[in-house]
Amino acid sequence: MDHIRNIFCVGRNYRLHAAELGNEVPTTPFLFNKPTHALALADGSAIELPGDRGELHYETELVFHIARSYQEGMQVEDVIDRMAVGIDFTLRDVQSELKKKGHPWLLAKGFRNSAVITPFHPFPGLEACKQTDFSLLKNSEQVQRGNIGDVIFDLLTVIRFATEHFGLSKGDILYTGTPAGVGPVANGDRLTMLWGDQVWGEFTAKLT
Ligand code: ZN
Repeated sequence: MDHIRNIFCVGRNYRLHAAELGNEVPTTPFLFNKPTHALALADGSAIELPGDRGELHYETELVFHIARSYQEGMQVEDVIDRMAVGIDFTLRDVQSELKKKGHPWLLAKGFRNSAVITPFHPFPGLEACKQTDFSLLKNSEQVQRGNIGDVIFDLLTVIRFATEHFGLSKGDILYTGTPAGVGPVANGDRLTMLWGDQVWGEFTAKLT
């Protein structure tokens, strides 16, 4: 994953998830980023995560790999070449404290291994993508299921927004937000990320 440059994440991009955390549904895309040290490949082995900083939540998200910079008139398929399923791990108690203080979310979402990702697969195009749900199993039980067709801000809107405000280019990746159903992870939990019926990656959470 050495080739990955910037990690951008969209917050509150699914209505029901914004509601479950008591957040307002945003009217413009809401983005944050993670350091590249946050990346961890879901390759079947254990991934170390913080176990002593309050509740740790999974947020399952589709992740898209940027192949080239956006130019006016381009479509999503011109900009994205690959996709994966990822988890935007969040220290929920830390985040609540940061929100109260009006501080940035880095401590809650930017810690090591907070950006778990499956291996990348070819991007089949946006319409094809909407035909398949992504999901997360915790200890073989489905805990989250989502579809990119349900986002508040579609991919092209997010790409244009990121391009305008931060710059977006080859090697950047985009976490696109989580559907409803986020929840806690305990030490030893086995997490499995699926695209339709296909397991794209799994790992064991090792809380330290
Ligand atoms: Zn998220």
